[in-house]
Amino acid sequence: MINRSNRLNNVSYDLCGPLYEKAKELELLGHRITKLNIGNPAPFGFEAPEEVVQHIIRNLSNAQGYSDHKGLLSAREAVKRYYDNKGIWNISNEEIFLGNGLSELIMHAVEALLNEGDEVLVPSPDYPLWTAAVRFAGGKAVHYRCDEEADWFPDVQDIKRKLTSRTRAVVIINPNNPTGAVYSKALLQELVALAEEHNLVVFADEIYDKILYDETAFTSAATLSEDVLFVTFSGLSKNYLAAGFRAGWMLVSGARHKAKDYISGLNTLASLRVCSNVPAQYAIEAALEGQQSITDLTKPHGRLGRQRAICYEKLSAMPGISCVKPKGAFYMFPKLDVKRFKLQDDQQFALDLLSEQQVLLVPGTGFNYPHHDHFRVVYLPEPQELSQTLDRLASFLKAYQQE
Ligand code: PLP
Repeated sequence: MINRSNRLNNVSYDLCGPLYEKAKELELLGHRITKLNIGNPAPFGFEAPEEVVQHIIRNLSNAQGYSDHKGLLSAREAVKRYYDNKGIWNISNEEIFLGNGLSELIMHAVEALLNEGDEVLVPSPDYPLWTAAVRFAGGKAVHYRCDEEADWFPDVQDIKRKLTSRTRAVVIINPNNPTGAVYSKALLQELVALAEEHNLVVFADEIYDKILYDETAFTSAATLSEDVLFVTFSGLSKNYLAAGFRAGWMLVSGARHKAKDYISGLNTLASLRVCSNVPAQYAIEAALEGQQSITDLTKPHGRLGRQRAICYEKLSAMPGISCVKPKGAFYMFPKLDVKRFKLQDDQQFALDLLSEQQVLLVPGTGFNYPHHDHFRVVYLPEPQELSQTLDRLASFLKAYQQE
C-alpha cells in the first residue's frame, strides 16, 4: 500500500471534490452540467482585456528563460505602483513576490510562518484553500464567525474569544468569497488594532478588490497601520478575468523590521520553485496599467451588475431561501430553511440537485461553514443561462419541500 502523507489528513478543497467528480461522470454519460462550482470567468464568455493578451503574445519570445524567483522587476514595479496609489507605505520591490496564481503564494505565506500546532484565525465561511493551507503546514485553522445577520461581517468578539498564545495570524478575505461581503473601514480598523495588540500577521486576501457594486468603497487592510505585518494578496484571475494565466502576487508591508526572518523564509520557498510562469508575469504589468474594464462590468447595466440583480431577485423570490445581497465578487451564499425542506445535509442536497437538474453547486460546509443549511452560487453565466439555471433550482426546491 502506498499511503498519502499524514500532512494531508483533514486537507480538502470541495470546489473540486467528490461532487465535481460526480459531475464529470455525468458529463461522460452525455449530460450537460451547468458548473456553478468555481469562480472561473472564461468558460462563461468573459475575456481578459485585449491589451493584456497582446502583451503576452508580444513578449512570448522574451519569456523563454527563468525570471528572478520573486518575478520580473517590471511586473513587481507595476504591483508597487498599484499599492503606492492605494496608500500602502514604504513598499519595496524586494518584498513583492509573483506566483502561479495566488493559490501558490497562499501556500508559501502560510508554510513559511507556521510551526506544528500554531494557530491561524480563518473566517467561517472561508475560501477553503486557507483552511487547507494552514492544516497542510501543520497548523490549526481556528474558524471565526462571520455574521449573516450583520451582512456577513466578521464577529470581532468571536475573534477575541478565540485568540490564544499560539495564534500567529488572522486571515481577512475582502471582498469575500463566498459571501460577497465588503468590509467597512471601521471594521477593518478594529481587526488591525487586534492584530497589533496580539502581534498577529494579517493575511489580506484581496483578489476581488476591483469587483465592487453599488459604488461600495474598498479599503485595503495594509493602508491602516505601519505597525502590523501585512501580507496582501491579489492577482489576475478575477479582476482581469484571466484565471487560466495563473498570475498572482503578494506584497509584504507594514512592520517588516520584525519579520526579516519570515521574509527570508518566503524568499527560500520562492526560490525552491525557481520562478512562476514567465509569460503570465508579463500580463501583470499590462493588466495593472491598462484599461480597467472590470469596473464597467460591475455597473448596474454591466454584465456582472445585471447577473447579480437577476441572481439576487430570483433567489429571494424562492420560498424557503434567504440571501444577503453581495457588495463585491461574484458569489452569493444563500440560506435554506431546513424545516421547510427534507434536508438531510447540504452535501446530499447538492448531490440531489446535480442528479436531478444537472446543476453543480458547492454546499456551505465546503467553505468550512459549520451549519448544513447554506450553498454558494457563482453568478457568472450570462443572464439568460443564469435565469434558466435558477429556474431549475426553484423547481427542484419545490419538489424538495416537506409534504
Ligand atoms: N483567494 C480567493 C478568495 C479566491 O476566491 C481564489 C479563487 O477563487 C483564490 C484565492 C485563488 O486564486 P488564484 O486563481 O489566483 O490562484
